[in-house]
Amino acid sequence: LMHLTRKLIEIRTMLLSIDQSDALKLPSIVVIGSQSSGKSSVLEAIVGHEFLPKGNNMVTRRPIELTLIHTPASKAGEQVEYGEFPGLGLGKITDFKHIQKTLTDLNLAVPSTEAVSNEPIDLRIYSPHVPDLTLIDLPGYVQISSLDQPESLKEKIAALCERYIREPNIILAVCAADVDLANSPALRASRKVDPLGLRTIGVVTKMDLVPPEQGAGILTGNRYPLHLGYVGVVCKPSGKKGRKETMDVVARRGDEYFRENREQFYGSSSSLMVGSDTLRRRLMEVLESSMASSLHGITNAVQLELEEAQYQFKVQYNDRRISPESYVAETVDALKARFKEFTTQFRKPAVREKLKTMLDERVMDVLEQLYWSDKRVNEFTALGESRTRPDEVEPYWRYKLEAASSLLTKSGVGRDSTLLVADGLRALIDSIAAGRAIHIPPARLRAPRRVENCIKPYKYEVEIDEREWENGRKEAVQLFERELSMCEDKLKEIRKRVGGGRRLNHLVTYVRSLEERERERKKKRLAMIASGEDDAVEPTEEESYKYPPGQILDARHAALYTDRLSTLKLRLAALKSKRCRSGPENDMLCPEAFLNVVADKLAYTSAMFINIELLDQFFYQFPREIDSRLLYDLDRKEIVDFARENPAVRRHLDLQERKDKLEEVMKQLNSLSTLRSDVKPTPRRP
Ligand code: GDP
Repeated sequence: LMHLTRKLIEIRTMLLSIDQSDALKLPSIVVIGSQSSGKSSVLEAIVGHEFLPKGNNMVTRRPIELTLIHTPASKAGEQVEYGEFPGLGLGKITDFKHIQKTLTDLNLAVPSTEAVSNEPIDLRIYSPHVPDLTLIDLPGYVQISSLDQPESLKEKIAALCERYIREPNIILAVCAADVDLANSPALRASRKVDPLGLRTIGVVTKMDLVPPEQGAGILTGNRYPLHLGYVGVVCKPSGKKGRKETMDVVARRGDEYFRENREQFYGSSSSLMVGSDTLRRRLMEVLESSMASSLHGITNAVQLELEEAQYQFKVQYNDRRISPESYVAETVDALKARFKEFTTQFRKPAVREKLKTMLDERVMDVLEQLYWSDKRVNEFTALGESRTRPDEVEPYWRYKLEAASSLLTKSGVGRDSTLLVADGLRALIDSIAAGRAIHIPPARLRAPRRVENCIKPYKYEVEIDEREWENGRKEAVQLFERELSMCEDKLKEIRKRVGGGRRLNHLVTYVRSLEERERERKKKRLAMIASGEDDAVEPTEEESYKYPPGQILDARHAALYTDRLSTLKLRLAALKSKRCRSGPENDMLCPEAFLNVVADKLAYTSAMFINIELLDQFFYQFPREIDSRLLYDLDRKEIVDFARENPAVRRHLDLQERKDKLEEVMKQLNSLSTLRSDVKPTPRRP
């Protein structure tokens, strides 16, 4: 039968790690009693060592789940006794003073504002002198609230005890012999949950403090009958301060007391249960039989839970098993694949194209700024259509072209192109790492100065051959055609919005006349200022309510688009003209083609440099970075944490673990089935 308890204690521990629900609980012995009832002394007598926190006002603040494991004495006769805190990872502790110190620290770590904590301390003690038992030591009931113990402490402790003394646990109610049992908080609490006393054992301490007859009277249990009976003990250490006594000495003193008063305790009329050895044996019997009778119920409960877990595992995951390691490895592969897929957007041609688009816009701005808003633009167009030879063209247009080219090359292309790529990469990394708790910093990407340097040559001189020219011209034509159709679309939109072309024409005419008047007004005012009449009242502009303001705004835009359209058409014609087609010597008269070539060269060189200097290194580095972050740098715990950060994986792992544990428990329970037939009900008295 020993074997059964032992096995069931192991199973109980596993069940506790599966979940805390009452359905999956095997019984344990819960020790309750008021402060100073002698609770600690009883527990220490059972273990055979002093190991519980002591000291003035030192209350147990957390439940201690004490598992005692009987180990065979070694052949050499030496005693291998040690404790372990599985939750703390401190290893084997052979010095019981150290265990005491650890328990004291754990208790003191509970903030005094909380007073008690529900979180149990797991302590296992291995010894040849202990039986296989599980005991839960709870904070003692507080009788009187003192100043430094908040009033709520009393209720908190009572609530904590109430949780533990539920079925199927066995209640060890500790009461002192010198206190009337009617006043024992432990018995009162147990009666509430176990009115018939079917699972309560009374332990009467300090038997030496009352006359033997009175003590024996208590143990008969006639006044407060308990099915499992009362055990009387004396666990009195010597009164002398500072004298160290082994628990053996203390226990012997207890036995002595009962021997001295044998007729009261061992008399023929009564066979009472006394002494710590008897207590130990009694606890073993009670726990064994209680465990045994729980066996059937718990087996059924575990079977049900297991079937449910297996069903869920099948339905939800099709029985696919995962491990945190395999998850991390898969993640790494997925990240790399994703990365590779995304990097195509950073291949040289792609980068070049992006840069070119950016530069095209800039070319348009430069043209607008330097040519189309020039007062001599008509002259310029006429010049293109004339037969003037390139070397006869006014130097004005040569300077213009140089200014335009330098505006383009000095516009910070280097910085902008690096930024463009850096932003792209950052977005790429974000999208790869999205939803995952990995932070992968991009390689150092800011090197605008170096890109700037490599494009410097174009700031001074741009050499263009025939082929490049023709290319640039064609691209300029395309660019202008795109721009043209965009303007037309805009105009179409506006036309639709204001209600047709005729209406828009009216509006535009009106807006243009407004603009004309405004110009006149300004001119007049300037004249007035020049002739010293500047204090004259400014003529107020007549407000017009002829059209709604939204339509006026549309008309203004339409006017701009129309102007732009006619410019674009003129320039397109020029670009397609024989003169522009004839070659780079006509660059002054075809600035669009020229600037396009410059933009092309800038994009080409920048892209090349960015690829060589920045991207190649990054593309080499990044997959290795993923490896080192996820595969090499993480320890087992971090891998598990990483995997569990993904809620889906966490659920999968949780269910899988639950299923595994339940399967293991079921296996263990089945292996006990042979022992089950041996189980006998607990005798009422020994
Ligand atoms: P706890 O607060 O319930 O854990 O009680 P303790 O085990 O610390 O005991 C409280 C006090 O009662 C201590 O001073 C013990 O020395 C004393 N005590 C415990 N058991 C006995 C006993 O059997 N006889 C006598 N005379 N004193 C005892």
